[in-house]
Amino acid sequence: MPINRNLSEEQILLRDTVRKFAEEVIRPVAAELDEKELFSNEITKQMFDMGFMGAFIPEHYGGADLDYVSYIIIVEELSRVDGSNAATVAAHNSLGVGPIYYFGNDEQKNKYLTKLSSGYLWGFGLTEPEAGSDAGNTQTTAIEDGDYWVLNGSKIFITNASTDITLGSTILAVSGTRPDGKKEYSCFLVENDTPGYTAKPIHRKMMWRASNTSEIYLDNVRVHKSAMLGKRGDGFRQMLKTLDYGRLSIASMGLGLAQGACDYAINYSKNRKAFGQPISHFQATAFKFADIEIGLELSRNYLYDVCRMANQGLNITKEGAIAKLYCSELAHMASNHAVQILGGYGLIKEYEAERYYRDAKLLEIGEGTSEIQRLVIARQMGCFD
Ligand SMILES: Cc1cc2nc3c(=O)[nH]c(=O)nc-3n(C[C@H](O)[C@H](O)[C@H](O)COP(=O)(O)OP(=O)(O)OC[C@H]3O[C@@H](n4cnc5c(N)ncnc54)[C@H](O)[C@@H]3O)c2cc1C
Repeated sequence: MPINRNLSEEQILLRDTVRKFAEEVIRPVAAELDEKELFSNEITKQMFDMGFMGAFIPEHYGGADLDYVSYIIIVEELSRVDGSNAATVAAHNSLGVGPIYYFGNDEQKNKYLTKLSSGYLWGFGLTEPEAGSDAGNTQTTAIEDGDYWVLNGSKIFITNASTDITLGSTILAVSGTRPDGKKEYSCFLVENDTPGYTAKPIHRKMMWRASNTSEIYLDNVRVHKSAMLGKRGDGFRQMLKTLDYGRLSIASMGLGLAQGACDYAINYSKNRKAFGQPISHFQATAFKFADIEIGLELSRNYLYDVCRMANQGLNITKEGAIAKLYCSELAHMASNHAVQILGGYGLIKEYEAERYYRDAKLLEIGEGTSEIQRLVIARQMGCFD
């Protein structure tokens, strides 16, 4: 159980409420949803009702108006039980709602934020088949045509983009050439029912199997110029800024997953006997828990601290990358130890350790791979100047 250090009474109450919800509503069905690759509209609706979506959006847009630590606690507690449903919440808040809230004009905020806080999902369309880590290689184009923009291209791996309750996605496209000859990027808010726009789920994933991951195809998609997010040419900066914050929620998924895997394995190790004693009594087992606990303490304190920086509007490019990298590697280590501690049972689906192990892997890849996080950190240190 995490220590209540530096948390307000409201944050502790929130943590306990989310934990209860995750344990009572999600845990009983998480394995089945994962096995059958089912995105649950019903659980998602309940998470909207609980105020987990639109978490940091002001109340007048229907949001919960929470600070960043509180939002991150929601994601952490959901991840402690299930990566898929946590991913739905993390992606919707950080990647779906975030860009519209931070970069949208009043008209766009009024049009979308209340809906996105109360029942509809929104995706973040950055990655393409030829543009993952190398996002600058975006191939999707936007060509101006009177009062409209015409979009062509495709996106891949977009979370929440093709559920029954998805309203649309933010799409990054090359919208022209800058005076210095480099590509100009802009973002567009594109609704799912726009003619020429197709979003469809990707199946047979190793992890987050109950979350929605989509391909998007844009075939002469015409959007009014009012659908441009912020200023023309600001698209790349908007996407990078969004990722700075998004990395905090991936970090919190790593922290929560590591805590969940640890709790699960400790409980198992106290009940499993070998050579006449619980396996938790063997130092080889106990030291694994000690290593995880060190990581949990350090990463929780660091992540909450970075969230407090985010609350103050400080730049968190380096700190967000450190938190994301450290917490996702902690999740990898903790879930690996959990499987090892369960022995053969750790490899069987009836036990939750293997799901933690699979779900952890995405955290080292999504929203910038571990290699890219190291690049971001080194760049912030001036290594490449
Ligand atoms: C389940 C899931 C959900 C996702 N959700 C979203 C989403 O909502 N929106 C979205 O836009 N994207 C999303 N993504 C995409 C994700 O962010 C990308 O997969 C990720 O950024 C890596 O890109 P890539 O897969 O093209 O790998 P690549 O970029 O091809 O990387 C392959 C390997 O090369 C390494 N590499 C690449 N460049 C360098 C370099 N310069 N130095 C060192 N190593 C390097 C990488 O670290 C990696 O190990 C999601 C992905 C998954 C799997």
